[in-house]
Amino acid sequence: MSCASPESWRNQRGRRLDEEEGTPVTVPPVQEPRSDLVVVGAGAAGLFAALTAARRGAHVTLVSARPLAETASYWAQGGLAAALAVDDSPARHLDDTIEAGRGLVRRSAAEVLCDEAPARFADLEALGVRFDADRHGNLALGLEGGHGRRRVVHAGGSATGRRILRQLSADVVEEERIEVLEGRRVRALPARDDGRVGAVACDDGRVVAARAVILASGGAAALWSRTTNPPGSYGSGLMLARAAGADLADLEFVQFHPTAVAGIPGREGFLVSEAVRGEGATLHDAAGERFVDELQPRDAVARAIHRLLAGTGAPAVYLDMTGIDPARFPNVFGALREAGHDPATARVPVSPASHYVMGGIATDLHGRSTVAGLYAVGECACTGLHGANRLASNSLSECFVFGHRAALAALDEPASPAVAVPEPPRTELAPPPSRATRAALWRDAGLERSAEGLRRLLDDAHPLARLVAASALAREESRGAHARSDRPARDPDLDHRHSVVEAGKPSVAHVKWT
Ligand SMILES: Cc1cc2nc3c(=O)[nH]c(=O)nc-3n(C[C@H](O)[C@H](O)[C@H](O)COP(=O)(O)OP(=O)(O)OC[C@H]3O[C@@H](n4cnc5c(N)ncnc54)[C@H](O)[C@@H]3O)c2cc1C
Repeated sequence: MSCASPESWRNQRGRRLDEEEGTPVTVPPVQEPRSDLVVVGAGAAGLFAALTAARRGAHVTLVSARPLAETASYWAQGGLAAALAVDDSPARHLDDTIEAGRGLVRRSAAEVLCDEAPARFADLEALGVRFDADRHGNLALGLEGGHGRRRVVHAGGSATGRRILRQLSADVVEEERIEVLEGRRVRALPARDDGRVGAVACDDGRVVAARAVILASGGAAALWSRTTNPPGSYGSGLMLARAAGADLADLEFVQFHPTAVAGIPGREGFLVSEAVRGEGATLHDAAGERFVDELQPRDAVARAIHRLLAGTGAPAVYLDMTGIDPARFPNVFGALREAGHDPATARVPVSPASHYVMGGIATDLHGRSTVAGLYAVGECACTGLHGANRLASNSLSECFVFGHRAALAALDEPASPAVAVPEPPRTELAPPPSRATRAALWRDAGLERSAEGLRRLLDDAHPLARLVAASALAREESRGAHARSDRPARDPDLDHRHSVVEAGKPSVAHVKWT
């Protein structure tokens, strides 16, 4: 079959499933013939997990609510971290990951990431992704905040996510064993008779059964009003998993990116990659003075900006990219120039925005959640590898490393007997947030929180907002991305203790993971 445009899909029968052709095919509410696996989400984690399974002979159904261009993966700029340089090693990568994670990194998970990222990078190249090379033809490796070595591979300058997703989606389209259902939202995870999750129920009434379900539904940073994320990143997978009985973890840890565009119409929240600071861009206050070491981990840089803005009342600080080669970051320069602002000649107004959630569905090192048959990978998962603060560019690597592992593990699940499909729930398990909820999270669970605001947030209408509040309230310390103005010190008793919200319980337990 010929390759479709990457932002649209064809299923195996050659029918387009994108929005250009109108609404997706309507099907009666019946249980579909079984796949081996259902993967929910077509970002980096979902596409890679689906391809991994299909290339081992499995039949996969890939369900995606939104078009490719509306995934966080497509928007990724900087690249993916892997110890590939001659002066680098997985052990150095691990050291930097642990340092950034502020005493909360689950070492076993970070070891998996750092050890296996080079092999998954090689897989991506074998799948046809072309990464950038320097003028001698060697792989170009970027430097980002918190990394002690150049280890960030990128594609198309700062169009890394777009390049990777275009290639992976073209590979998926070519793969006969993968059926893509685009434009369908999964709204429940029905259990099998034996209590295992064995199907997904979509919003069009379709139920797809399989031996296992892999959630790759992305993060929840768009729950906050000022964000770099696409609107669909509001944590629907977390709520579906919780309703199915899975534990969630570390929900209080939300990374705020220091340099999202502020006050340029049409580009509000647009992310200016950390990599531009790695290449020498500097941050300045309104008087033109530098005020922070730009290569510190992003929580430190974001908080320095936040405090300066809170102290002065200024709306933004200014990123000086005038010394940066526009060819290295074509989409950043292009997007800003389109909006009438030329970063080659004028500093760019920026301020922090919610960017990445370290927390998610608690999993083991193979993506298994606490519910049999249910896996989670990518940003919706919490392996503990990021601890309290993700090291830049570790998240794309995580999608590939754990997407691969989960696909292999899920194929070992017992074959699925018939699924008893319960009545679909009457209430929406994973509703989008209202404007009021998003504003409340920004105000009460933002870069600096206190018990007073968090208690207010406990009454929010959105269930995930309440869980974020409960987790942040229970962690009575400041650590990494979680800064409490009323608890400014780190509590050593909470080192390596993850905040776990067990299914059915509103309370938070602090648990050590091995
Ligand atoms: C602007 C930006 C720049 C970034 N830059 C980098 C970078 O340079 N390096 C890096 O490592 N990380 C970066 N990140 C973070 C990284 O992109 C994400 O963590 C990662 O791409 C998440 O991938 P994912 O596959 O888990 O989820 P996503 O890419 O968000 O995909 C989620 C998928 O799930 C689907 N979905 C969600 N809910 C449902 C449902 N109920 N039913 C059906 N489908 C559903 C969505 O439609 C989508 O297809 C960046 C993030 C942003 C926003």
